[in-house]
Amino acid sequence: MSSESDGSGTEFGRLVILSGPSGAGKSTVLRQLLRECELPLTLSVSATTRAPRAGETEGKDYFFLTDQEFDQRRRAGEFLEYKEVFGLGRWYGTLRSQVASGLKQGKWVILEIDVQGALAVLEKQEFDPITIFIHPGGMDELEYRLRARETETEEVILARLETAASEMRYLPHYQHEVINGVVDETVAEICQILKEQKEKHPCSKS
Ligand code: 5GP
Repeated sequence: MSSESDGSGTEFGRLVILSGPSGAGKSTVLRQLLRECELPLTLSVSATTRAPRAGETEGKDYFFLTDQEFDQRRRAGEFLEYKEVFGLGRWYGTLRSQVASGLKQGKWVILEIDVQGALAVLEKQEFDPITIFIHPGGMDELEYRLRARETETEEVILARLETAASEMRYLPHYQHEVINGVVDETVAEICQILKEQKEKHPCSKS
């Protein structure tokens, strides 16, 4: 379905999967990428059962659902993939509607999802995603960044570090590895990866 026309003259966009350990700086990189990269990028807003953090907005950062609402939508087949992340009873899922409507409008839809979610999407072979794994280069750096954020409890930090260590093992499943050192450089690198894909599939809208 990627980079094709739907017969009405509108060309489909591309699906981009961005994963990496929590604390890798993905959100900061993503925000800047959306602002600066000259492609029609849009972020797919996921649903989650975790509580909003300070400053997070419903429908912009996530659709915040109760366990019951999440379950209803899951049973109705509304998720492209869904996962319980961190083993703490928090659910996250990619809404099919977010992906389909973006691609149909010729957008490059970015999924910021965990490694298992990414594999679930790849297994479906419904799209031809560009996959990027972003990480800070080492576990010490990751722990430093998670603690510096001061938004999580010790229990959550420890769970995230454990998850991060196992997530790193999925790196070989991704087409591109990006080490997030200096944000500006990381953003430029990811934008360049995407532009190269656009040159390979020039029929996407710009
Ligand atoms: P956070 O709670 O910090 O916003 O996100 C925690 C983790 O959940 C991140 O690693 C993020 O990639 C992942 N995540 C966010 N949305 C989704 C989703 O829709 N599906 C999956 N599988 N993971 C997600």
